[in-house]
Amino acid sequence: MGGGLEDEEVVQVSLEREFKEAFEVCPICGGELAEKRVEKLLRGGPNMATITVEAMVCLRCGERFYPEETVKRFENLRARLARDETDGLELVGGAYEAR
Ligand SMILES: [Zn+2]
Repeated sequence: MGGGLEDEEVVQVSLEREFKEAFEVCPICGGELAEKRVEKLLRGGPNMATITVEAMVCLRCGERFYPEETVKRFENLRARLARDETDGLELVGGAYEAR
């Protein structure tokens, strides 16, 4: 990497502002939205990973809205999990399913 980091940050800030303006109220219930850091559980094949991201969260119905860029990160991570490509991911425990 290196070099282009500053440019990248500028782009991200403007994207986030646009995103926030697009979601002033919840499109589902009309409730108030708040910007929050949320933990999202992603599943790909036999693997699962959690990722903490910023989202707009409806204070009434609890629905979360993610910027397009974040949704792409989710898709990317799901695809990597499905292919068992866990480089760069930290193993924090096993996953269990109750039957
Ligand atoms: Zn809502």
